[in-house]
Amino acid sequence: MRLYSLLAAAKINLYLEIMGHRRDGFHELVMVMQSVDLADRVTVRSLPSSEIRVQCDHPLVPQDATNLAHRAAALMAAKYPQAHHHHGGVEISIEKQIPVGAGLAGGSANAAAVLVGLDMLWQLGLTQGELQTLGAELGSDVPFCIGGGTAIATGRGEQLDSLPSPPNLYAVLGKYQSLSVSTPWAYGTYRQQFEATYLQGDEAHSRRRQALHSGPMVSAIAHQDSPALGKALYNDLEKVVLPAHPAVADLKAAMVAAGGLGTLMSGSGPTVFTLTTTREAAETIQEQVRDRLADPDLALWVTRFSSTGVQLTA
Ligand code: ATP
Repeated sequence: MRLYSLLAAAKINLYLEIMGHRRDGFHELVMVMQSVDLADRVTVRSLPSSEIRVQCDHPLVPQDATNLAHRAAALMAAKYPQAHHHHGGVEISIEKQIPVGAGLAGGSANAAAVLVGLDMLWQLGLTQGELQTLGAELGSDVPFCIGGGTAIATGRGEQLDSLPSPPNLYAVLGKYQSLSVSTPWAYGTYRQQFEATYLQGDEAHSRRRQALHSGPMVSAIAHQDSPALGKALYNDLEKVVLPAHPAVADLKAAMVAAGGLGTLMSGSGPTVFTLTTTREAAETIQEQVRDRLADPDLALWVTRFSSTGVQLTA
């Protein structure tokens, strides 16, 4: 087969704690990641030439070598030059559903899909672990986006421990379409404001990681306890993004007022989500928030927790 069509799922962060500095300049994180069924379609097609081409239907997404999907293909070509030579280049088409710069790992999901797609197109037979190691070279969220589901992510976010299936929840996502938040800005601002509170030393970091493993979020997931999961939602980056973007704080307040199990900003934002146990409850919250804020720039989606990251489709 010379073409594969894949769905690349977005993620939300159910928990995001910044523990401190890493020697490589990134932050040491402890997170709980969850895939949702909002997904981009990524198609990889063999080309007779050795070229790597990207096309995308979203105006804010670059179509050149800076696209993370292009970088994923270039990495595969550099690691597996014989397969590249033998099977030829690749044309990557991305149909965007995941909003851009939203804290939902859209670019990382696209890169993950290209790794999985090229593994099949070039008949490499790589394991998920090998694909995740490659993904970590592209970005911290890429390894999670390959397998998806529910996982604890530590280090820069690239070290994964899978978790048991959480309760089957719905997430109403809300994002102002004209607003995006730069991930480096969010972490850089957090550092400026909270560096004095950072944990020092590997041992302190290791204790916090253990605390998450035995803490309320992981326990709520393991016991499929939806109300407890809603209460355990946490994201350190809200402390810098919400004050800088009052519209996001107002969106969060409107979602909290609409009810649900719990409300949180995902990743570095600006997407905010509310969890519910049924689709009907999610749709009611979607309508209430839309009516209350009455802003045509606000986009809202009803999504469901998903157990997959990249998925092959017909
Ligand atoms: P994260 O949650 O991992 O921080 P994000 O959802 O905030 O990611 P993305 O949507 O992945 O952010 O995009 C961030 C930037 O990356 C955008 O400014 C965009 O121009 C660039 N980019 C490069 N490749 C892609 C891609 N394939 N899809 C989306 N954005 C891309």
